[in-house]
Amino acid sequence: MAAIVSTNAPPCRMLLGGVWRESQATQFSEITNPATGEILARLPHSTREEVNAAVEAAAGAFRAWSATPPVERARVLFRYKMLLEEHLEELARQVTQENGKTLPDARGSVRRGIEVVEFACGIPTLMMGRTAENVGRDVDSSTVRQPLGVCVGIPPFNFPAMIPLWMFPLAIACGNTFVFKPSDKAPLTAMIQARLFQEAGLPAGVLNVVHGLKETVDALLTHRKVKAVSFVGSSAVAQYVYATAAAHGKRVQAMGGAKNHMVVMPDADMSAAVKGILSSSFGSAGQRCMAGSVLVTVGDAAEKLLPLLVEEAGKLRVAPGTEESADLGPVITRQARERILSYIEKGEKEGARLALDGRRKATPKEGNFLAPTIFDNVRPEMSIAREEIFGPVLAVMRAGSLDEALDRVNASSYGNGAVIFTRDGGWAREFSTRVQAGMVGVNVGVPAPTGIFPFAGWKGSFFGTLHANGQDAVEFFTETKVITSRWEKRPL
Ligand code: NAD
Repeated sequence: MAAIVSTNAPPCRMLLGGVWRESQATQFSEITNPATGEILARLPHSTREEVNAAVEAAAGAFRAWSATPPVERARVLFRYKMLLEEHLEELARQVTQENGKTLPDARGSVRRGIEVVEFACGIPTLMMGRTAENVGRDVDSSTVRQPLGVCVGIPPFNFPAMIPLWMFPLAIACGNTFVFKPSDKAPLTAMIQARLFQEAGLPAGVLNVVHGLKETVDALLTHRKVKAVSFVGSSAVAQYVYATAAAHGKRVQAMGGAKNHMVVMPDADMSAAVKGILSSSFGSAGQRCMAGSVLVTVGDAAEKLLPLLVEEAGKLRVAPGTEESADLGPVITRQARERILSYIEKGEKEGARLALDGRRKATPKEGNFLAPTIFDNVRPEMSIAREEIFGPVLAVMRAGSLDEALDRVNASSYGNGAVIFTRDGGWAREFSTRVQAGMVGVNVGVPAPTGIFPFAGWKGSFFGTLHANGQDAVEFFTETKVITSRWEKRPL
């Protein structure tokens, strides 16, 4: 994104040691409303000194916060959960304004984020260790889980409320302190969330916020006092973050991009499948890492499914997310829209058949709107079948059997989600067992797990070992210590 030097839009502030401050940066980018093009804010690219100040504030707060009993830390989390509930509508409106997704979708995403905070409220039990008595004569062993120190969070633009809540609440509940760098395209919701955490009683320095892009991220990944990095974004950047942070001795979980397949068997309930596919492929304008972007029909499923799917997709209302009747809003930037249009042109050139051409549907003049597009007769080698488009474009492939469909799905370099629509338990079981993806849906279009389970991408969709959320995340944000003690019995 081009750096700019001046506009009248307010600058995003940083949170350093409990105080909101303006950056001394000389480089800024624009935060725009994707539905209107209005400039909402200027995002400073925090300087290395500012990043250093944030990490030092977090490091300084660590000793007292990690020594705070987990039940007391949990009380802050309980208050935070209540404040997030009270501000749910404000947060959802901010998501819609800076990201473009529809209000119902935005509300749902805030709710899913709050579920992670609810999970984090259980930290006194979640962090419990294990004990074994008499591992040797008069010797006992036990494990305890201890926080790591300063952790870092770097989220993408597409869930401005939910993904930040995957990162800092649980890390902080575990006793860590945190430096958060919101998305460079949608940072405003996370700043409200940080303010609410302060209001909940979080001590100064436990959560800090800096802004920027690659240089800010690099300063965090290489900082001597940073212990762990939680990243969510595109696969190329995820791989870079993973390699760079690991080379500097950090623990890393890096969630990447996706190309999720949906398989429809001939026995499926077709009207339920259409509903699930529409929401998966075109909800959030296709900008979800769990969006279904390839549909594989098996046997004669295509004949029953496609006419209905194309008809219903053509009816979806493309409008600003603030209009309650909108089905999908704009994509995030003009550049993103151009990129998606270039994929549609590629699909045509590569010989796929346009069953629904989103370019032909009238959409609002202002903003980055694009209506749903469906390609039929897509072959596995085409770029629209292999690459992440991250927009409202669905590629349809045909397969003769479940085996062939599984081969198509498993050939993908990504492995985030995969879905099957069927009424047959045997087919569902076969699919769930053999599919190479970390999150599987059976008659569920978007099988994104709730916060009590890990968000478990595989292959090129994830770099690391322990995933975000659930018990995986508790392990990620803590270190295991084994204490072995001998106490011999003395006569009185
Ligand atoms: P992105 O990779 O462009 O940016 C993600 C974060 O990295 C942002 O905070 C950004 O400021 C920073 N960043 C960007 N370029 C960088 C660079 N060169 N070096 C260091 N940091 C950099 O991703 P995005 O466009 O914001 O989000 C969309 C992507 O995120 C899609 O690929 C989507 O599939 C993926 N995503 C994945 C998951 C998941 O859980 N697997 C969830 C949501 C989104």
